Amino acid sequence: MSKQDFLYTLAADLHCHTVASTHAFSTVTELAQAAAQRGLAAVGCTDHAPAMPDAPHLWHFHNLKALPDYIAGVRVLRGAEVNVLGTDGRLDLDESTLKSLELVVASMHNQTMPASSAEECTAAWLAVAANPLVDIIGHSGAPQFAYDYETAIPEFGRQGKAVEINEGTFRVRKTSAPNCRRIAELCRKHGVHIALDSDAHYHGQVGDMPHCVELLQEVGFPPELIVNGSVENLNAFFRRRGRKVSL
Ligand SMILES: [Zn+2]
Ligand SMILES: [Zn+2]
Repeated sequence: MSKQDFLYTLAADLHCHTVASTHAFSTVTELAQAAAQRGLAAVGCTDHAPAMPDAPHLWHFHNLKALPDYIAGVRVLRGAEVNVLGTDGRLDLDESTLKSLELVVASMHNQTMPASSAEECTAAWLAVAANPLVDIIGHSGAPQFAYDYETAIPEFGRQGKAVEINEGTFRVRKTSAPNCRRIAELCRKHGVHIALDSDAHYHGQVGDMPHCVELLQEVGFPPELIVNGSVENLNAFFRRRGRKVSL
């Protein structure tokens, strides 16, 4: 397929890590300041939930309420990157903690998800899709966690999730790239929303997603399906998710 001439804009970066996940290197203030410099309206503070070896204590998530709504004029979204722990779609934050957050990205990581067949990963993602407290399906293109994309992606759409296209994939999970392309193509085909996220581990990476944009150009992805492409799209996404966030 030839490249399409869509113009992509970005209003928020919904998946970023702070020093609270100890393999990341910037503070939440630095993330917000970097987002402001890029003209973003919001930034997701989505540190690893407790099952990851570098995760903050559970209290980190309970105490996100200590943050002001806005830092450097940027809305800081109190979030988490939770871990899918098994084929039943279990997560590593309890329901009341998840309910207290404004943004939940659910991901599979080698450290926390056992080796699983495509059938098992599909079952896990379908269970996550049914969980009303998950907003974004995080970096799901990893070959070791390949799943039945044709089955799960329309279900993500039916459940109002956004499927993440993650710039970090092109930095540290390069073997995922062909699956990410397939995922983007299927989201386009089925009209499923996506989120473009940097997965920043340093503030210089916030809002910087050249590989994601190139992929979207290549598959001719419609801008109106990008939940963080504009403030209007983002507000509509939070309304659909039942989140009390408005920019
Ligand atoms: Zn992750
Ligand atoms: Zn992450």
